[in-house]
This record gives sequence, structure tokens and C-alpha cells, in this order.
Amino acid sequence: MFVKRYILPIQLVLICSLLIAAVPFGGTNLYEILACLAALGVTGWMVWYLFMEGKAISVQAESLKNDYKNQRDKASQCSKETKDLRLQVQLLKRQKHNTEAIIYSISDAVIVTDANDRLLMANEPAGEFFGFDVKEIVLKPLEELVAKKELVKLIANSRTTRMRHVRHELQFGTGNDIHTYDCIISCIFDEDEQVCGVVAVLHDITREKEISQMKNEFVSHVSHELKTPLASITAYSEMLVDGEAADDKTRKEFYAIIQSQAQRLNRLIEDILNISRIESGLIKVKKEHVSTALIVRDAVQMIKSYAAEKEITVEDQTAIVFDQVNADKDMVSQVVINLLSNAVKYTPNGGKVTVNSEVDESQQVVRVTITDTGVGIPAEELPRIFDKFYRVKANNKCAKGTGLGLNLVKQIVEKVHQGRVFVTSEVGKGSSFGFELPLIAAGKSLVK
Ligand code: ADP
Repeated sequence: MFVKRYILPIQLVLICSLLIAAVPFGGTNLYEILACLAALGVTGWMVWYLFMEGKAISVQAESLKNDYKNQRDKASQCSKETKDLRLQVQLLKRQKHNTEAIIYSISDAVIVTDANDRLLMANEPAGEFFGFDVKEIVLKPLEELVAKKELVKLIANSRTTRMRHVRHELQFGTGNDIHTYDCIISCIFDEDEQVCGVVAVLHDITREKEISQMKNEFVSHVSHELKTPLASITAYSEMLVDGEAADDKTRKEFYAIIQSQAQRLNRLIEDILNISRIESGLIKVKKEHVSTALIVRDAVQMIKSYAAEKEITVEDQTAIVFDQVNADKDMVSQVVINLLSNAVKYTPNGGKVTVNSEVDESQQVVRVTITDTGVGIPAEELPRIFDKFYRVKANNKCAKGTGLGLNLVKQIVEKVHQGRVFVTSEVGKGSSFGFELPLIAAGKSLVK
């Protein structure tokens, strides 16, 4: 700048000095010299000026070039960062999608809350269970959506106490429709070990509870039922050993009691084993095309002598029709014999038992009905009559029993043969027990 500013005056001073110096030596025309010097000066100044300007421009260009390079580097850095961010967003989206897919695929009700007990996520079963639309719940307070205050409290409590996992058994529903749920509540921790949410999973364990209760009842019933004949056998055999049976007649009496109790024990164990084999699916089923009419006819023949002891008539009204079923013959025989022997057992002397087997074309089933003129069953006890060990108290005096026969009938008909059992009864008038089995289509049987 300094050079630029003072270049003109310096040049003028130089020119003037040259002119003054030329005059005493009698130089050429003063005006020519002056013009030459002026032209030289102006040209020199212009050259100098242009040179300096060019230098300044090149410095500026260099700095602009550097600026541009910096900006370009920054831009490429920015675009790389944007790309990375976009990738991260995509990754997060995919992770969120995967998490949602996992939660939505679970058949148990799942709800996820944030650190303020607001609902973040819930799957369809949870929506159905609590009665809300899963797409419209995001960030709504949990207490607004879940009516069961106990659950809301448990979730809030887990969050504040920072429990990793807790398990509670909760009951939902009213009246007869009460379900038990195993509720697992887990806290979600962020990288600073702060609770940022809670996950609750509700698994319906009603059936498991029922089964475990049934198992307990079954075991206690079985032990009780086994104890009774065993107690008799022990008592009478002890009396025999101790010589308490003084004569042959008493001894024979004791032997007979021991024998009958041992037979009862045997029947009981057989029934229990059969039922448990069917229930566990371990029993070997040999299905073939059989006629129910023939099975009924054989069973009636078998029961007739027992019925005759009580002067009970057994009438088989079964017509010879096409009544083929795909069934295990021995099992179906067992069903008919159980129902027939019950009919005789619970019918007073001189009564009547009628057996009928018919084909119901419209339902495509064979229906066997055994009707007696016996003591009957009170209406309120009918729904439980096929339960294991269930015996009608009022009828206990009629006959001894285990309460397993009808359950075995039900298992064989419904579980093994996909049929149906039924009963109607009137106290003092008699009962009708029966079952239906799916009929084989006539064409199929002929081909066989
Ligand atoms: P069990 O005869 O060994 O007691 P079941 O399971 O065969 O066991 O029958 C259960 C109960 O149902 C019997 O105790 C009896 O009270 C009642 N029951 C069954 N069949 C008849 C019937 N034909 N008439 C009256 N009561 C019956």
C-alpha cells in the first residue's frame, strides 16, 4: 500500500530532478525531454501499478482458492455426516420395526410404558384384553387405559423400586369368568442405569391352575379310594392270622370279603390306568370298521345273567341296519358294558333296561341309548356325573362303585372316537345314558 500510494509523487520528483539536471548541460529541447520523460514516467507507473494490482489479485485468488477448498472439504464432510445419520436413522427404524414385530408376534398381552408411566407400545392381545386400540394409545397415561388399578400400581412400583423382574399372579374377570394371569414386570434400564421404561407381560395360566388343582384332587381321590379296599383286606387278613375266625363258615366269609375287595382294588387300578392312558394319549387304539349293533348285542348277552339276579329284563331294540363306525371294538364294548351294568346296578329288582341303537342320517352318527327304570339322578348333579370319582350320594346305597366308570365312557367316546355322550334322568323314574359315534359313509365301507 505504501509503495502504491507514494509511487506517483516519487516518479514526479524523479522526472523533475532529471529535467533540472538536463538544462545546465544544454540538452535537447526541453519540451521534448519533458514529454519523453512524462511518457516514460506514466508508462513506468502504469507497468508498476499493473504489476502490483496483479500481485494483489493473485494473492486474493489464492485465498479464494483456499476458501473454496475449505468450503468444499466442509461440504463433503457434511454430506458424509448426513449419509451416516441417514444410515443410523434407517438402522434405528429397522430396530424399532424388529422390536415391534417381536412384541406383536407374542400371543400374551404385552405393554411397554415410559419413565412417566405412559404407554409406549402394546400388542393386539393387550389391546383386546384391556379394550383399547393399540394404534391410538401412544403416550397416554397407563391409568387412563388400564382399568385394573392393581396392575397400574405394580408397574409404577416396579419402576420406582427399580426391580429388574417381578412376578405377580393377578385375577381378571367377574363372576364365573375369572381368569388367572402370571404377570411378569421388568424394568428397562438406559446406559446410565436409569429406569427409562417398564415391560409387563400377562400370561393366562387359568388352565394350568385348573389342571394342577385337578391333579391334586385326583391324587387325593385315588389314595382315598385305594385305601378303603386295602383297609378291609388288611383288617380281615389280620383277623384270619390272629385266629379270630373260629369256624369254617366265618373263615369262608372273610376269604370272600378279601377276594371281593381285592377285585375292587383291581378294577379301580384298571380304571385309573385306562383313564390316565387315554388322557396322556399313550393307549394303543385299534380302529376298524365295526357295527355298533353287533357290539350292543354281545354286551346285552353278557349282562343278562347279572340282570337276571335282580330279575331285571334287558331288551335290545336294535334293528339290523347299516351302522358301521370306525372304532376300537374292545373300547366301545367297554362303554356299552359300563352303561348297561350301571343301568342294572341302579335299578331296583324287577325293573327294566332297554337298549336302542339307531342311525341318524341327518347328523351322520350312530346313537346308542340305554334306558332304565331305576332310581334316577337329581338334575343338579347331572352336569358332574361324568367327572372322575363323582358318585351321587343318594344312590351310594344301591351299589358299590368307584365313580370312574362314566368318566372312562366319556374319555373313550369323546377323546378316542370324537363322539359325544349324553344323559337325561328323573329321580324315581329312571335314566337314559347314551353316546353317538360318527358314522362311516356307506360307500367307504363297501369298498373296504
Ligand atoms: P360307579 O358306578 O362306580 O359309582 P360311575 O362313574 O359308573 O361310577 O357312575 C357315577 C355315579 O353316577 C354313580 O355313583 C351313580 O350314582 C350314578 N349313576 C350312573 N349310572 C346311573 C344310572 N343308570 N342310574 C342312576 N344313577 C347312575
